[in-house]
Amino acid sequence: MEDITLNAPKMFDLSGRVALVTGAGSGIGQRIAMGLAQCGADVALLDRRTDDGVAQTAAFIAKTGRKSVQIAADVTSGSALAEAVRQTETELGPLRLALNAAGIANAAPCEEMEEDQYQTLMDINMKGVWLSCQAQARAMLAHGQGGSIVNIASMSGVIVNRGLNQVHYNASKAGVIHMSKSMAMEWVDRGIRVNSVSPGYTATPMNTRPEMLHQTKDFESQTPLQRMASVDEMVGPAVFLLSDAASYCTGVDLLVDGGFCCW
Ligand code: NAP
Repeated sequence: MEDITLNAPKMFDLSGRVALVTGAGSGIGQRIAMGLAQCGADVALLDRRTDDGVAQTAAFIAKTGRKSVQIAADVTSGSALAEAVRQTETELGPLRLALNAAGIANAAPCEEMEEDQYQTLMDINMKGVWLSCQAQARAMLAHGQGGSIVNIASMSGVIVNRGLNQVHYNASKAGVIHMSKSMAMEWVDRGIRVNSVSPGYTATPMNTRPEMLHQTKDFESQTPLQRMASVDEMVGPAVFLLSDAASYCTGVDLLVDGGFCCW
């Protein structure tokens, strides 16, 4: 038995790793950024928000003793993402971890939806994830120390949410899941793992949009666990997939949905 080197807690330790989180100024991305720092990572915080959301994330991270850098950028711009990765590596070190949570949601009946509404959402939720992964992987491939990327998709990429008219959103999230698998296979022999986390209904500012408020009770009763997730409950799954504990996981979509997709 002496030759067993297993150290399970150490597998989840992110000490010495540098992470970049998009959507780090609110909701799921913000809380995961905080959790990554608690697990030992230094974290670059990217968001387009102009309120104090990102600063709040940074203040929390400072209390953990880890470093952060605040980056105001839009994930629809490849050049802004390239600059964000450059700034991350200059200030924190080689990028090893990436968590892409920036996204939007809205709704309209399919037959009434304007092209602009469809295109704007697709540009952020799908092209934005592709551009983010591209910029992050370019750095990971260049430094050769490997990397782990997690994209926040949604159970809406697997099921259709009853009562929500959001064909564009559902399609974008199905796209994120399959794009993540496709990138995982492109980089599988070059040290980069790519996975997605698909949350179920999660209590964040996104869910305070007017068309959803009256549906909260329905969401709770439709979910086998009979409640919405808290943002804290997205941290463990993201840390797991980003960490060495998931070293044999790539191309996985991890549903974190309170059992929703079982029914
Ligand atoms: P959130 O609280 O609105 O956080 C998303 C953050 O991303 C916001 O700060 C947002 O800024 C930012 N963002 C949006 N577009 C951006 C862009 N083009 N460039 C840079 N930053 C941008 O929403 P959330 O609920 O945490 O959602 C995070 C992710 O989880 C999204 O991808 C969402 O689709 C997914 N998700 C959420 C749920 C849920 O129930 N909440 C369920 C499944 C999946 P603005 O406020 O300016 O838009």
